[in-house]
Amino acid sequence: MTTITLQRDKCIGCNYCREHAPQRFAMSKKDGKAVLLHARERKGFYIVKVGEAESEFCIRAAKACPVKVIKVAE
Ligand code: SF4
Repeated sequence: MTTITLQRDKCIGCNYCREHAPQRFAMSKKDGKAVLLHARERKGFYIVKVGEAESEFCIRAAKACPVKVIKVAE
C-alpha cells in the first residue's frame, strides 16, 4: 500500500491532481480546492492508503502539483 497525503489548506485549486488521478482527487464546489477522496483528516492533513494500481496516478498528481502539497510514501 502507498500512503497519499494532501495538505489541503495550501492547495491553490489548479485542478492538475484531478486530471492525473481522477479516481482519487476531486475539486470542491464550495472552496475550489482539491478533495482527496475517501481520506481521513488529521490536523489539516488528509490521508489515505491506495493500492499499487492507483499509486502511479497519484505519483503523477504529486509531481504535477505546483505547490507540492501532495506527498506519496511507500
Ligand atoms: S495539483 Fe496541488 S494545487 Fe493543484 S488542485 Fe491539486 S492539490 Fe491543489
